Amino acid sequence: MSKNEIRIFCPATIANVSCGFDVLGVALDNVGDEMVIRKSAEKGIRITKLEGQDLPMDTHQNVAGVAGLALLAESGSPEGFEIEIYKKIKAGSGIGSSAASSTGAVWAMNELLGKPFSTLDLVKFAMEGERLASGVAHADNVAPALFGGFTLVRSYEPLDVISIHCPNELYATVIHPQIEIKTSDSRKILKTHLTLADGIKQWGNVGGLVAGLFTEDYDLIGRSLQDHIVEPIRSILIPGFDKIKSVSKEAGALGCGISGSGPSIFAFSKGKDTAQKVAEAMTHVYQKIGVDYDVHVSKINTEGIKIID
Ligand code: ADP
Repeated sequence: MSKNEIRIFCPATIANVSCGFDVLGVALDNVGDEMVIRKSAEKGIRITKLEGQDLPMDTHQNVAGVAGLALLAESGSPEGFEIEIYKKIKAGSGIGSSAASSTGAVWAMNELLGKPFSTLDLVKFAMEGERLASGVAHADNVAPALFGGFTLVRSYEPLDVISIHCPNELYATVIHPQIEIKTSDSRKILKTHLTLADGIKQWGNVGGLVAGLFTEDYDLIGRSLQDHIVEPIRSILIPGFDKIKSVSKEAGALGCGISGSGPSIFAFSKGKDTAQKVAEAMTHVYQKIGVDYDVHVSKINTEGIKIID
């Protein structure tokens, strides 16, 4: 018998991953939202519950509704859906709050419809939610949420998403200073041109990071976690960024950078113990300068969205 309702975990995601501005992303394992999606007799999509964050419940103003409508328009399905959203990820935190909702909606609807769409199709629908959230239909958060692990958006025209192998002992530490930076605002301050010298450094690092992930070469991953283009500009908006980065490296992190458009900062480590030590070092910095924060230590999530009981 086919199901009428599912409860899912929708992972938080780190986009950009230092050198991979707008192309790389990775999913977290124990940080994310929950959603319940059920078929309904009434056509269309309704957000019937939204807990944890003050966000619009109007279908056209919520990324889950917009992404879901994009799927329905393509499927021509006569079904309707109700969506409940239990937000754990704060909006504007830089760990893919909007992407968790837009991917969760389309992934669950596809399950309930008997999987008529591919994961790549779901990325396209979820990108419509991102368009609502930030004005740009980017895929660097929605791709890892749907595919799991690390993803590379090689091209948008046509959309080409590549899953990248993830070493088993790779852990992320994420610290979220309690200030809000809107993705749309942090895009405005970026330069639209770059020098050839900066381009060369950046694509060297992207290639190095991808190679390091596939070959499980943790030192190469660490050496490649550098961003010469976006980080120097965006980090100005993040309190204590340089200090957090230096203490993370001293505590054993492979590398450290801005998560998405910030203000969250991420570090990667080999092994959970080191990732915990990095979390302690990061929190110490914010305690000293008096900034409130949330901190997470998570294994990399290689499955993406999953059904929970
Ligand atoms: P993040 O990088 O954490 O996703 P963004 O600033 O990109 O943060 O997206 C948050 C924006 O999307 C906010 O303006 C918020 O009002 C809007 N939004 C609409 N629906 C949702 C939703 N279901 N979850 C999160 N944000 C949503």
